[in-house]
Amino acid sequence: MIKTPYTVDVRDLMHRPGEMRERVIDVTVPEEFGNAMIGVKTGSALRIDLRMESLHDGILVSAEVDGTAAGECGRCLIDIEQAVQVEFQELFAYSSDEAFEYEVHEDTIDLEPVIRDAVVLSLPFQPVCQEDCLGLCPVCGVRLLDNPGHEHETPIDPRWATLGDLAGLEGQSGQEN
Ligand SMILES: [Zn+2]
Ligand SMILES: [Zn+2]
Repeated sequence: MIKTPYTVDVRDLMHRPGEMRERVIDVTVPEEFGNAMIGVKTGSALRIDLRMESLHDGILVSAEVDGTAAGECGRCLIDIEQAVQVEFQELFAYSSDEAFEYEVHEDTIDLEPVIRDAVVLSLPFQPVCQEDCLGLCPVCGVRLLDNPGHEHETPIDPRWATLGDLAGLEGQSGQEN
């Protein structure tokens, strides 16, 4: 199998129930992942605090993942960053029994899909730069937090505009009924 920064050798744990190892792995993210608004970017750092226990069925992996996600505010569109911190516990099975989602392959485990799923689930679908972000002015698009008190001349109420038209017609012959 192809080795990636997320591949961990578990040879010294395999088929030795009761054995346990702890490791810290620093990954430079090779390929970004996330949702449309925010994600962990290529080249950013992920720290994986790993605890691996040998069981009869496979290797039980508990991990805490720390990193940084970057994206944009869903309301005002400025660039934002936020800390990512997720934990997971998964069994990597020796057998390819369908009951187990993850398997040990050739003395290694691949943490990439587990980390990706855990991190993506933890990301907000509507990230904001701050909880009370006011977004953008619907008329001119300025960021309202940067422009306190920003407002426009009250637009003419369409009903009055119609009256204005009628007034303009008054001098004519009244064809409009
Ligand atoms: Zn914002
Ligand atoms: Zn405006």
